Amino acid sequence: MIPKDHPRYRSLVTRENLARSTRSGIVSLEGLTAHGRGEAFDYLIGERTTESAHLAERIAAAILISAKHPVISVNGNTAALAAPQIAALQKASGALVEVNLFHRTKERVKQIEDLLRETGSDVFSGEAERLLPLSHDRAWCRREGMYSADVVLVPLEDGDRCEALVRMGKTVIAIDLNPLSRTARSATLTIVDELTRAIPNIAAACKDLSAPECRQLAMSVNNHYLLSEAIREITLRLDHAMD
Ligand code: ATP
Ligand code: MG
Repeated sequence: MIPKDHPRYRSLVTRENLARSTRSGIVSLEGLTAHGRGEAFDYLIGERTTESAHLAERIAAAILISAKHPVISVNGNTAALAAPQIAALQKASGALVEVNLFHRTKERVKQIEDLLRETGSDVFSGEAERLLPLSHDRAWCRREGMYSADVVLVPLEDGDRCEALVRMGKTVIAIDLNPLSRTARSATLTIVDELTRAIPNIAAACKDLSAPECRQLAMSVNNHYLLSEAIREITLRLDHAMD
């Protein structure tokens, strides 16, 4: 019997949740395979928040609370894994919550918005338009939401859309367990941590950062350094894997 607080137990519960959410239509089949890639990298970082991820989470909090118009972009996997935590982060940061999907249908958007509302988020909805410079359905967003945002938090983002948001001049914060992905490398700031650990850590930091700490952290963004540290932490772990 695996103890309930063991990462392996949590990962089994997460898989059951994702399988259920795929059957109900919240998560796409493609989303399931993306989760598998994330799990592999989580194994490599030791299924814990590393020191560099902890720092990135505090910087993310500082950027979010200093932003004029911050938006949290939610897809199917994010809603299935962390809907109540998204609501808590919204309260702590004051950000808008907006649904943005790769595999977009009106029904799926509504299903995910309903789940977010049921778990406490104030969801920004209304008419979406094809506003982002992308050929696929992730181009759809709301003019007063993500399109006007100065800061966008994109948990589990695709590289194309992350690059497009950066090209539009936005500050993009990504949560991605793969420090080598295009998303991780093109975002303004990448948190190399598992979504359900990262979101509560950002929310906690939003509450406890002092104003001077917040200013200092928001000015200290160095994504190259944070990704190099994440890779160094993985390498160190692999070096001692057989000890
Ligand atoms: P990119 O398009 O950025 O080059 P990709 O094609 O590998 O990367 P996508 O499928 O576009 O990736 O996005 C999924 C990303 O999310 C993967 O890099 C994966 O590591 C990461 N991921 C999946 N599940 C989680 C999770 N629960 N927490 C954090 N990251 C995750
Ligand atoms: Mg991709």
